[in-house]
Amino acid sequence: MEKKLIYADHNATSPVRPEVVALMQELNSSVYGNASSMHLFGQKAKKCLEDSREMIAKLLNAERPEEIVFTSCGTEADNFAVKGIAWSNSRKGKHIITSSLEHPAVLNACDFLSKNGFDITYLPVNGFGLVDPEDVQKAFRNETILVSVMHANNETGTIEPIKQIGGVIREENENRYRKQLPRIYFHTDAVQSCGKINVDVQELGVDLLSLSGHKFYGPKGVGALFIRKGTYIEPVQHGGHHERNLRAGTENIAGIAGMVKALELDLGEMSAEQVRLSGLRDMLEKGIKDSIPEIEINGHHVERLANTLNVSFRHIEGESILLSLDLEGIAVSTGSACASGSSEPSHVLKAMGCDPEAAQGAVRFSLGRQNSEEDIRRILEVLPKTIDRLRSMSPVWAGGVSNKK
Ligand code: PLP
Repeated sequence: MEKKLIYADHNATSPVRPEVVALMQELNSSVYGNASSMHLFGQKAKKCLEDSREMIAKLLNAERPEEIVFTSCGTEADNFAVKGIAWSNSRKGKHIITSSLEHPAVLNACDFLSKNGFDITYLPVNGFGLVDPEDVQKAFRNETILVSVMHANNETGTIEPIKQIGGVIREENENRYRKQLPRIYFHTDAVQSCGKINVDVQELGVDLLSLSGHKFYGPKGVGALFIRKGTYIEPVQHGGHHERNLRAGTENIAGIAGMVKALELDLGEMSAEQVRLSGLRDMLEKGIKDSIPEIEINGHHVERLANTLNVSFRHIEGESILLSLDLEGIAVSTGSACASGSSEPSHVLKAMGCDPEAAQGAVRFSLGRQNSEEDIRRILEVLPKTIDRLRSMSPVWAGGVSNKK
């Protein structure tokens, strides 16, 4: 009998929902006009675009549909937020605060800005991967123009205290207004949290928020940036007058509508799915702890996404585990898909103070809609044998076969 393939890498990307595929297929053949064209075909596309904008604004609790700009992905949304705020506010200040465990889309945008005259503060995190709002406050300078801290971490699933950081920034901005200092904008990368936990831009107190369709069972190649009304931001992509002059490029109508539909469907099921997934994740975590010695769970034990489990298996490389599990038809990750292929240990685990050996042996299991208890049982059947086999070949493993049964 052919073995069932198990996909446990949903933080890298997720399969598109059949309802979304059907909608996109229909729109690709029935609403193919250019939303900027004045004829009937164009107007039909424009209506579909604006309906999608209205719906996603509602789902994020934005005040106005105009606060949503569609992009080509989460990376573009992050770049737009960070560079757009930097360019438009550089005369007021050139200091940006971010955290040391952001996705490369934010970290590398900041790195680029640091080579172009901006000063970047990388906030430390604690052992669970949490940013301390007090550290944000301590990092403020008169020239600070932006704080960018992610909502949920892609590698560990740790959820950052965005609401509290938003409160600290609001208070600082009230003082700055009186002192005539530049206002600090607050961006969060919600690419991993959107569709998985409640994302409400009012509650979070953010000025900018990035998301990406393919992380919540929507299509790849579509994302969005929420930009609060009154935010002073420069476009980073220049061209035509699309997206109210903020992001040039013909809009991907079917992709945008598909992404919005996927988010709508996800939010409808979110509470029940969170309970189901955390049950599966806990079953996996307990099974690993009970059957494999010398492991560590990375990330916060409570403040984390229900679907994510990051485990360090000492004395072996995460990449060897990934490849061995792949041969068994089980897809996992060593961390961020964007960093895979690099032999460097994860910058996220490093920032959390994880020692290099534990960081090298880290594996991320990220569960999703199609995973079942049967999948977890199969992973728990294969994984201990895989770890034993790899450790028995490892020159740094003295423990022999797993002694903890
Ligand atoms: N931000 C986070 C936290 C992510 O996990 C990812 C993708 O893994 C991105 C940004 C980039 O999103 P995209 O793949 O849509 O460019």
